[in-house]
Amino acid sequence: MKGKVWLVGAGPGDRGLFTLKGLEVLQNAEVVVYDALVGDEVLALVPESADLINVGKRAGNHLMEQDRINRTLLEQALAGRRVVRLKGGDPFLFGRGGEELELLAENGIPYEVVPGVTSAFAVPAYNGIPVTHRDFTSSVHIITGHRRKNSENSKRIDYEALVRSGGTLIFLMGVSSLPSIAAGLLEAGMEPDMPAAVLERGTTSGQRRVVATISTLAEEAARAGIGAPAVIVVGRVCALADRFAWAENRPLAGKKILVTRPKELISETAARLRRLGAEVLECPAIETVPIEPDTSGLTGTGQDTRAFGAETASSAAVNILEGYFEHASGPVPGQKEAAKRPDWLVFTSPAGVRIFMEAFLEHRDVRDLCGSRIAAIGGGTAKALRQYGIRADFVPSVYDGETLGRELAQKIRQERTQGGQAEKPGQGIDAASKQAAHDRSGRAGTHEICGGRPVRILIPRAAAGNPDLVRELEQAGDVEIRDLAIYETKYRTSGIIDVRDEVLRGEIDFAVFTSASTVRGFCAMMKGAENDPAVPDLSGVRAVCIGRQTKAAADAAGMRTWMARRAAIDDLVDAVVRACDPENPF
Ligand code: SAH
Repeated sequence: MKGKVWLVGAGPGDRGLFTLKGLEVLQNAEVVVYDALVGDEVLALVPESADLINVGKRAGNHLMEQDRINRTLLEQALAGRRVVRLKGGDPFLFGRGGEELELLAENGIPYEVVPGVTSAFAVPAYNGIPVTHRDFTSSVHIITGHRRKNSENSKRIDYEALVRSGGTLIFLMGVSSLPSIAAGLLEAGMEPDMPAAVLERGTTSGQRRVVATISTLAEEAARAGIGAPAVIVVGRVCALADRFAWAENRPLAGKKILVTRPKELISETAARLRRLGAEVLECPAIETVPIEPDTSGLTGTGQDTRAFGAETASSAAVNILEGYFEHASGPVPGQKEAAKRPDWLVFTSPAGVRIFMEAFLEHRDVRDLCGSRIAAIGGGTAKALRQYGIRADFVPSVYDGETLGRELAQKIRQERTQGGQAEKPGQGIDAASKQAAHDRSGRAGTHEICGGRPVRILIPRAAAGNPDLVRELEQAGDVEIRDLAIYETKYRTSGIIDVRDEVLRGEIDFAVFTSASTVRGFCAMMKGAENDPAVPDLSGVRAVCIGRQTKAAADAAGMRTWMARRAAIDDLVDAVVRACDPENPF
């Protein structure tokens, strides 16, 4: 069966300028053939399952390369695959889209074209330059500044005709021939003070512009060190640039930020940073992998002080869940069942909630958890619980493991000494709904349910979690803590974006970390190839961290660090804004 090819425009860089249709097609791709002009933000959207073919062209070798690209598209389609040919801007505007379709058409391969937002219009727009304006011009012309060697098409640009048109002139691929373009226009009679601009890496964090006149532009651009890719605009509309400029006024304009959260959590942080004008590279440094209940050989966390001893984490997971099952299928919760279930279930991450609940709900119902009270380390974890219809009974005042342990221990001690008195409502749940929860579950505070036995606390979380949590909880005295590893954190790296290279070239302004494990994952990403596995000097990396543990890990890795006021996404984004401010006292 024949496959199909989609010729897709990726837009000029900013991923918000990638079309909805382009995204849909890309998400279904089996093979993605891309080149150098596709922005990192769009590349990060390529599905992990797709095979990647980088055909980034090297100058001087174009014809050969183009032939090879055409053949690659044909071969992949003949192999029956869904092929996306991803190109910068619009695929038909100086993108050789037409050439790439020829071979496919000849061979009867089905294809579609998904137009893209072209740099010719988007880059001026991001620099405050409207390409037409009724007061100045009534036409716009797009010209290639690149001249094809040894070809009949290498006609001279008809500068006279362009000058006569009086329209806005937009040159693509023209940076290296800027002096000859300017000379050609002047010779053809253009006024020497005609406004002109060169716009480098438009719509990305690297966006820069030089506005001058056609007589001075080449010199000014050279002085500023402008390089490709850049769009050259010639015409009166360029005089509006400084007045209408807007992109650089956004709080995080010009900043490229690496976000390293696990993939399932990444979007919210990234979206907020983008809204403030940043270019955001989403490269998960870790992934969470559930510990399979039937996998043997996995060991516990080492912090599992009393309950499990040498038992493996995986069999412990089964036993715990079985404990729930027995309880849930019993008639009325009595002494026997009560002995099995935890008094407190403590969650320390949204991933922990998701993995625990998915395992639990495979055989059970959320109401079967009603015998236990539930604590969440912070807002994100509490939100993850709400998605399963559960409101956390307890959330600490500061979102970290140590505070969670200390404050929950205090609460347990308090309830023990208060005996039968009414308990205080925990944060994250009001008194009325707490009473309702009480009625539903037929249980009251810890003191009533325990009846003299130790308070049972179950912490389903990552292997090798923060030991402070357990240490602080033990301060409550007479507690039985089960620190249960239900998932592992694995390091990972992007198959398509060379994060290490970007960091070492100083392209990344900030790296955002939401856990100590993302910091360690990032360090693993920064290791060299196998023959040189050293972690490079990271003192140039500016790390914005969600909390103390995370900051400590980044400090230990030698990075320059900032910390959110509270461990919440809003505060994290705020910390990035503070870190960007040159006046900032840090
Ligand atoms: N098909 C593309 C153009 C390909 S030709 C489009 O529609 O945008 C390549 C030229 O496009 C570059 O030499 C440069 O002139 C321009 N270009 C592409 N992306 C750009 C960007 N982000 N900033 C400035 N110029 C860009």
